[in-house]
Formats: sequence, C-alpha cells, structure tokens
Amino acid sequence: MLQQTQVQTVIPYFNRFIDKYPNLKSLSRAKEKDVMKAWEGLGYYRRARFLLASAKKLEKNNFKLPRDFDEIKKLPGVGEYTANVLLALIYNNPTIAFDGNVKRIFSRILNKNVDLLNQEKIKSDNQRAFFFHNRNSDFVEALMEFGALICRPKPLCEKCPIKKNCLFKNSKTVSITKTKIKKTTKKLDIFCYVTKRKQIGLTKKNNLGFLKDFLIPKIMIREKNNKKNWSLLKNYSNSISNKKLDINLYYKFSKTIPKNFEWHSIGSNKEVIPSFTKKIINHIEKLY
Ligand code: SF4
Repeated sequence: MLQQTQVQTVIPYFNRFIDKYPNLKSLSRAKEKDVMKAWEGLGYYRRARFLLASAKKLEKNNFKLPRDFDEIKKLPGVGEYTANVLLALIYNNPTIAFDGNVKRIFSRILNKNVDLLNQEKIKSDNQRAFFFHNRNSDFVEALMEFGALICRPKPLCEKCPIKKNCLFKNSKTVSITKTKIKKTTKKLDIFCYVTKRKQIGLTKKNNLGFLKDFLIPKIMIREKNNKKNWSLLKNYSNSISNKKLDINLYYKFSKTIPKNFEWHSIGSNKEVIPSFTKKIINHIEKLY
C-alpha cells in the first residue's frame, strides 16, 4: 500500500483491509471484486491484484513466503526492493532495501550522485558494520525511518547522529543532483457512450498498456479525424504514474454500446471504479 502513497493516507485503509483479511489464507479465498472494493480510494489497483494473486499462489506453499531471493521474486508484483524488504522483515536476512529514501541517505553519506551508487558494493563493503548485530529487520526499518525523519529531502543535519561521518554535510563540493523522473505526455481522446438514464459504457478491454485492466470508456491516442458524431465536453489534464495525459473528453447519447462494453450507472457506488474513470464520470455527470 505504501508504494506511491503516503503513510498518513494508508493507515485507515490498512486497518480496514487487515480487519477484513487478517492473513494470507483469508485473502486467498477472497473474490477479486471484494478485494478491489477494500482497496477503493487508494488507486494503483494493480498492487491489490498482485497481492491477491500472490496470496493464491502461496496456498501451495502453506502460505509461507519463500526464504530464497530468487523464489520470492517469482511472486506477482515482487521486484528486487520488495523481495529485500520481505526477507529482512520476515526472516531477518542481512540485506538492505534500496528505495528512494534509502538511496538518498547513502548518496549523501558518500556524497555521490544517486545514479552512481553501487548497491551491492555498499552492502559488501559494510557487511560487518551493517549486520554484526543480527537485527537486520530493525536495521531495514531504521533506515526507512531515518530517511523519513532526519535525512529527509530537506535534511535535519544538525540533529543527525551521524553528521560527523557524512561526506555531504562535511563537503564544500556537493556532488549530489536530484534524479528527476521525466514525465511523458500523451494526448488522448476519450469517447463516452451515455444514456438519458444516466448510464455510461465502460470496458476493461483496451490496448493502452498503462491502463490495462482498468474499467474505462473508449480511449484512443489522439487522431485528427475520428470524432464524427461525437460532441466535445472538455479538455483537461490528468497524471498516471510518470505520464501526463492531455485529454479531450467526448460524449454521445446512444442506446447501444460496442462489444466488450457494459453499462454502468453514473452516481452509483456499487462498482469499483478507479479514480481515473471517476474523474471522467464527474465531468460527464454535468451533462444531466
Ligand atoms: S548529516 Fe544531514 S545529509 Fe548527512 S546523513 Fe545526516 S541528515 Fe543526511
């Protein structure tokens, strides 16, 4: 849940989710639509699907997470970072999970650009210093907390317990530059089939990779001549991950919809609708 979402936002969702699915076994038996409902509002629904798929996959292993790095990485949605976090927190493995915060800490201590950090070398050069205490899960959590509370984007160096050893703090020639994720812009045309009875046609079938499995209206990369019989409602911007979307929103009152589409009530909260589609529906609602 904490990927791309802040702790304060996550806490109530986490508490509700864990009340409903207190262990992997109960999660593995859940229906996808119920899990999506429990996730509703957090966005990035792919995380919930991966979680559910992992719980189902782990049933074969009596709901025990693999202890091996390569094995744990075979679970849906588990990359290098998550694998390291799980192995450290659950099995106390001597490892470090390098997320953005932890990279920032090491780039400052070593006064090196984030892009030039060699994570394996950092671990192997400091084996004894990092792992001698055998409190590896605490160490991984401590690094996360240190990045969140002290070595923040605007660091509190005066309060820092390791300031004497920090090359960034003690250097006059600071070499750190922030790595910016470049946002790409996509121009999209969104076509909404709507009815007089306040319904909108939505589908999960689309060939836009970044919206795969989303419940959405018809969406196409912008072209010049595909708007016949459609009325423009408005132009607006939206962002998904590292994509900036320039959207032209069209609508058409219709009694029929293409194959693979279903009618959904506008204003009903019964279905799980991603926030991307909710924004579209909010605009469409103004037609009534
Ligand atoms: S001295 Fe400042 S920059 Fe260095 S590790 Fe501490 S908080 Fe971070």
